Amino acid sequence: MKIAVVGAGVVGLAAAQELCNRGHEVTVFDKNGAAGEGSTFANGGICSPAYALPFSGVGVSGNHLSRFSQLTRKLTRLRKGSLPDLRWLWQSSSHGAEETVTSRIRFAQQLIQSSIEINDATIKDSMLELEQSDGQLILLRNDEELNTFHRVLNSMKALEMPFQVLEASELEVAEPSLQNHGHIRKAIRLPTDRVMNCRQFVLAIKQQFTQAGGKLAFQSEVTEVVAGAQPMLRLASCEQHVFDHVVLCTSTARNKITLKTPALSAVAELSAYALSVGIREPLNAPKSAVQDHKTGITISRLGKRLRVCGGAELNRGSAGDHDKRVIARLFNALDQYFPGAANYAGGSQVWRGSCGYTPDGLPLVGNAGAPGLWINLGHGANGWGMASGSARLLCEQIEGRPASLSGDFLHPLRFNR
Ligand SMILES: Cc1cc2nc3c(=O)[nH]c(=O)nc-3n(C[C@H](O)[C@H](O)[C@H](O)COP(=O)(O)OP(=O)(O)OC[C@H]3O[C@@H](n4cnc5c(N)ncnc54)[C@H](O)[C@@H]3O)c2cc1C
Repeated sequence: MKIAVVGAGVVGLAAAQELCNRGHEVTVFDKNGAAGEGSTFANGGICSPAYALPFSGVGVSGNHLSRFSQLTRKLTRLRKGSLPDLRWLWQSSSHGAEETVTSRIRFAQQLIQSSIEINDATIKDSMLELEQSDGQLILLRNDEELNTFHRVLNSMKALEMPFQVLEASELEVAEPSLQNHGHIRKAIRLPTDRVMNCRQFVLAIKQQFTQAGGKLAFQSEVTEVVAGAQPMLRLASCEQHVFDHVVLCTSTARNKITLKTPALSAVAELSAYALSVGIREPLNAPKSAVQDHKTGITISRLGKRLRVCGGAELNRGSAGDHDKRVIARLFNALDQYFPGAANYAGGSQVWRGSCGYTPDGLPLVGNAGAPGLWINLGHGANGWGMASGSARLLCEQIEGRPASLSGDFLHPLRFNR
């Protein structure tokens, strides 16, 4: 079949490659001049089943109002008095039945696990050499923080995914260079989490995709998709192209595309920051990834560089100044936990990226309620972790094959029912 994929981030390219591997004739359109220049550009590189739904109210407790207030406090910037923002936060802090929450967590963890397996197979088959390391350590200040993980850890146990709860005295074994200033009392060690350079992966699969006959159309902004037996895609240049299927992988709903589907109304945009800096002294640097649960700041090692990520700005877009307070917190966290690790003399870069988030933390993957129109977006904080698994599920649906992961958790119209 002739298929168009809109968006050349990790989600779009993973989908394009999966479809191409199945023998379809695939063209990827992106408004930018290269692949992986959107939110994929400088992410933390962490694929973590334990951190599957970080902004969906799973890790907060109490009644609906209390969860709403905790979720709002996780934001580092919020538009004052914005009703859509408050509505989205209210929806995100609404759990639904306990059974549903548990099944959703389990599904998300399986999705990330399947992505890791698919990525490993891709890397092995093509003998790619990527910057990667294993494991993540989640730093906790008290038992209350540990308790917010009870559902996630119970689900991991059921899925036989290994983890350990460590006391402060045991941190050194997992991350020998970590400096604890007394406030970290416990940690969750996740030995099978993976840290991998996402952009490096994207550039590698882009090459495989074109070698297998896939086509790339950069500097091609899509302005309209008209659904139908032969969906039509219109570009800003006024060119029109007809396909058998069109798949939207634009991460957010802020994509300037005229599209007749209510599915995207549930997607909010959250922006976060990434600080990248070279390693001065490898012995002072983390072995893999460390996350401070309270601040949400992650520090990961990507080859010869460190990446520190944090911040959460809801629906502010990319315009406006960087939040200097958040950036200062990223530098502080790195210097506090791994003093002497960074080579600031070699320069450092700060980047802000924005991703689409749904209220339940899972992406929208599937038919958008119109013939030939598919969506695969809203992966939030786990776009890298979920990209290859989502690609497989999408491809199975387009081809009408049974799903390799059961459950209707990704239905694009689930918030419109
Ligand atoms: C600071 C930060 C740290 C993160 N850390 C992690 C992490 O550790 N682990 C993890 O799993 N995830 C992480 N994420 C999330 C992850 O980066 C994203 O979920 C993922 O990159 C989304 O990929 P995507 O392909 O959907 O989006 P993008 O990479 O944004 O790609 C979308 C593409 O669509 C194109 N596009 C949009 N509109 C149009 C149009 N009209 N016409 C043509 N093209 C269009 C854009 O140009 C863009 O290239 C992080 C995100 C940020 C910001």
